[in-house]
Amino acid sequence: MIIILRKGATKEQISHIHDKIKSIGLKPHVSVGVDRTVIGAVGDESLINEEQLGTLDYVDEVVATSKSYKLVSREFKSQNTVVSVGDAKIGGKQLSVTAGPCAVESKDQILQTAQAVKKSGALILRGGAFKPRTSPHDFQGLGEEGLKYLADAASSVRLPCTTEVMDTRDVALVSEYADILQIGARNMQNYPLLKEVGKSDKPVLLKRGMSADVHEFLLAAEHIMNEGNRNIILCERGIRTFTRFSRNTLDLNAIPFIKQESHLPIIVDPSHGSGKRLFVHPLSKAAIACGADGLLVEVHPNPEEALSDAEQTISTKEFSALMKELGPVAQSVGRSV
Ligand code: PEP
Ligand code: MN
Repeated sequence: MIIILRKGATKEQISHIHDKIKSIGLKPHVSVGVDRTVIGAVGDESLINEEQLGTLDYVDEVVATSKSYKLVSREFKSQNTVVSVGDAKIGGKQLSVTAGPCAVESKDQILQTAQAVKKSGALILRGGAFKPRTSPHDFQGLGEEGLKYLADAASSVRLPCTTEVMDTRDVALVSEYADILQIGARNMQNYPLLKEVGKSDKPVLLKRGMSADVHEFLLAAEHIMNEGNRNIILCERGIRTFTRFSRNTLDLNAIPFIKQESHLPIIVDPSHGSGKRLFVHPLSKAAIACGADGLLVEVHPNPEEALSDAEQTISTKEFSALMKELGPVAQSVGRSV
């Protein structure tokens, strides 16, 4: 249920509705916008006396939400959410490009990458320290040592950083080093983990599960927001299809659909979205043209030597060229790089 208040509703009036919702056992979520304040009441809606609420003179409308996702929906918040981290305003006019290696491999590798991507215009540094590898025999990441190298490299070039957290027990540790907590595709429906990062004050980068429908994706974000964390960045990273020539198929349809359904920003990962270096430049441009708020690109000083995802990783030189190519595409859709 969504309670829309009239323009100019006072703090006391907002609190009154908030407390009323709470007292009948539902969870209130207040969204104060420029034009209107909306209060979402999540829980058993049959407990709400719609008529009574509707008679209050500062209540404009009481509407039943038509979607299973509520807090992340445009019905709840019509204006775009902008997540601010460092100089990046994800969801704002300027595109936010996150770049870095699949995995942090050494102090030198992440520092070299950080310096190069910063110079090319990336606004956020990435690098995995806890890696969800398909095989237990492959490189699993450097763990806390990797987190340290990532945070040091990021601060030396004055960029915020993001890295994946795979386990509820690691959220506090990863939060000591990362500015944005990344939830990987394999954990999109790990509800205890979603709840844990939902309690965090760090923004969350939520990747779409490789077999997840967009509704399930939005409901995963709903789990995070329901715990109080509203700084969520969605990331389309490709889904499994029947094609054999690429690792995943980038679902570009998801971008305009999510923009219509949700106020949350959405970025695109063309690296995992295809699994092949060949596709990174064209898919990046396509994503921007489709309305994505930014990109997440795997970049390595020597991609052929990368310990993970070498085939889809571009070099620092290719990344610099990509950033230049993005300019005109961004401009054509009213954005800047
Ligand atoms: C990654 O970003 O390195 C990663 C593992 O991505 P995904 O969770 O999308 O597979
Ligand atoms: Mn990777």
